[in-house]
Amino acid sequence: RKEQLQLLASVEAVTKDGYKLRLAGNISSVKDLEQAIKFGAKGVGLFRTEFLYMDRPTFPTEEEQYEVYRQVAEKAGGHPVVIRTLDIGGDKQLEYFSLPEEENPVLGYRGIRISLDSKELFKTQLTALLRASAHGHVKILFPMISSLMEFRGAKAVLEEAKLDLTARGLPFRSDIEAGIMIEVPAAAAIADLLAREADFFSIGTNDLVQYILAVDRMNEKIAHMYHPYHPAVLRLLRQTVSAAKEAGIPVSVCGELAGDEKALPIWLHLGVDNLSMSPQALLRVKHRILNSTLKEGQAEGKHCYQLSTSEEIEAKLAGFLGKDP
Ligand code: PEP
Ligand code: MG
Repeated sequence: RKEQLQLLASVEAVTKDGYKLRLAGNISSVKDLEQAIKFGAKGVGLFRTEFLYMDRPTFPTEEEQYEVYRQVAEKAGGHPVVIRTLDIGGDKQLEYFSLPEEENPVLGYRGIRISLDSKELFKTQLTALLRASAHGHVKILFPMISSLMEFRGAKAVLEEAKLDLTARGLPFRSDIEAGIMIEVPAAAAIADLLAREADFFSIGTNDLVQYILAVDRMNEKIAHMYHPYHPAVLRLLRQTVSAAKEAGIPVSVCGELAGDEKALPIWLHLGVDNLSMSPQALLRVKHRILNSTLKEGQAEGKHCYQLSTSEEIEAKLAGFLGKDP
């Protein structure tokens, strides 16, 4: 079965009635990208850059970061590479950067909040990303955005980094796309306002589910309450995708839900054709796509929006999956 799936790596992700999806990889390193490519990824939908900052004594320099981002941009073979700026805090710490002890770290100092507060650090990363944009289709993604002001603040630092590079005479793509990670309920709620100023959205369902349901994604005690198929989650997904479509910007999903083949009817119903997932999930999801039709999938997804509980929705989606050939 594993060998059979591997044969799908070079096959396009198209439904039986001809609807094409783009499957990209979530990666943390160049090595992950190689895995993703082996499993047929069309580029990178989420490069988690935290791992570049971990297991070392100091912050990575601009050169060190540039080297990695450039390699990823080049190896992606012309496909887009979405690189997310540093998302530490919450569950991810750095030995050499002391963060305050917090009562609720997940609701605390993390992601873009730290970046906007440590401007030099942030600018160094953006400069490295910009330099890499001269070597491939690099896009920048900001994590944990919860207001338009934060996004504007992040873009202002990006503009400063561009000015510096121009002064240094180094090449970069001045029209580099800057997108927002939709993973805080506030961002989903104001998706229409954010969509006017963002070049793209990427929906991070891991955090979005945790925040919508107030269920810590790391807490074993309440793991049974972590329901990605909760109707509240489905509603905010729909609202986010509609806002993106209304504004004419691309939207992708990069949380774990994208790699759950049960979720496919939801994406077909909402019109999400861009999914990014861990490399190990790529071929399973593609197999499902190849055995589905847009028409039926859309009807199934629509049906889920009429149900009232996570349990009903998940059981229904499992049933749809079970009847695939
Ligand atoms: C997410 O929150 O859905 C996500 C993709 O990012 P991370 O898992 O790194 O928080
Ligand atoms: Mg997240």
